[in-house]
Amino acid sequence: MNTTGKNYQVTSIGDIQAKGRVTLHNELALTGSEVSINELPPGVSVPFLHSHKRNEEVYIMVKGKGRFQVDGDEFEVAEGSVIRVDPAGRRCIAADAQSSLRYICIQTEAKSLVQFTEGDGVILETKPTWLQSAGD
Ligand code: ZN
Repeated sequence: MNTTGKNYQVTSIGDIQAKGRVTLHNELALTGSEVSINELPPGVSVPFLHSHKRNEEVYIMVKGKGRFQVDGDEFEVAEGSVIRVDPAGRRCIAADAQSSLRYICIQTEAKSLVQFTEGDGVILETKPTWLQSAGD
């Protein structure tokens, strides 16, 4: 399904379980973030350390086990682990020898968030179509 409206875009990235890495920046024409969905097979590491010029990253482990490294500090990660890394952090991620590791990585410009949730969200008077009664 690919649908674009005035204020939204919907697409399918297909069989997510079969893909090693999918980035959503182009898929959704993102303007304030990059989101990638990744899976490392058992025993596989990203083969390099990297840092960023301006973006902080949030890693969300959704399945499996592995290891993470920032500035030489190593720690185990597993489903439920969430990690924020400052732009300068020298980072890498690897799957455990016996387990694949699926994770989502969200990049946003560091210190760009000035408000969020209740500070930015606006609850509107109109109900969603599925909550409207015939008289609305
Ligand atoms: Zn990165």
